[in-house]
Amino acid sequence: MTDTIIIILASVALALFLGILIILVNTLLPKERKKPEKVERLLEIVPKRDCGACGYAGCEEYVKAIVEDPERAKTEKCPLMSRDKKKIEEVENILGVNLQEKE
Ligand code: SF4
Repeated sequence: MTDTIIIILASVALALFLGILIILVNTLLPKERKKPEKVERLLEIVPKRDCGACGYAGCEEYVKAIVEDPERAKTEKCPLMSRDKKKIEEVENILGVNLQEKE
């Protein structure tokens, strides 16, 4: 009988220990990093086709590149939205650059 009680108490203690360990690890591990706000906003605008026509592997890579250096957006454009003035204006507002300058 005593052995049974000891086994039950050890099981409960082990369960508590593992529960606390899981909570600690979950709290201490880094969470998935949130994308910068400009990247999130631009991802709402780009066509999301991941076609690579802009020279990047996909839309997210393109957006990250133009957020990092907005001047890139003047020469490295997404051909799928280059004729959509409304989208270009939204991109200009987010990046703070003029993409419709006459050359
Ligand atoms: S060209 Fe446009 S749609 Fe294609 S990957 Fe680049 S940003 Fe995305």
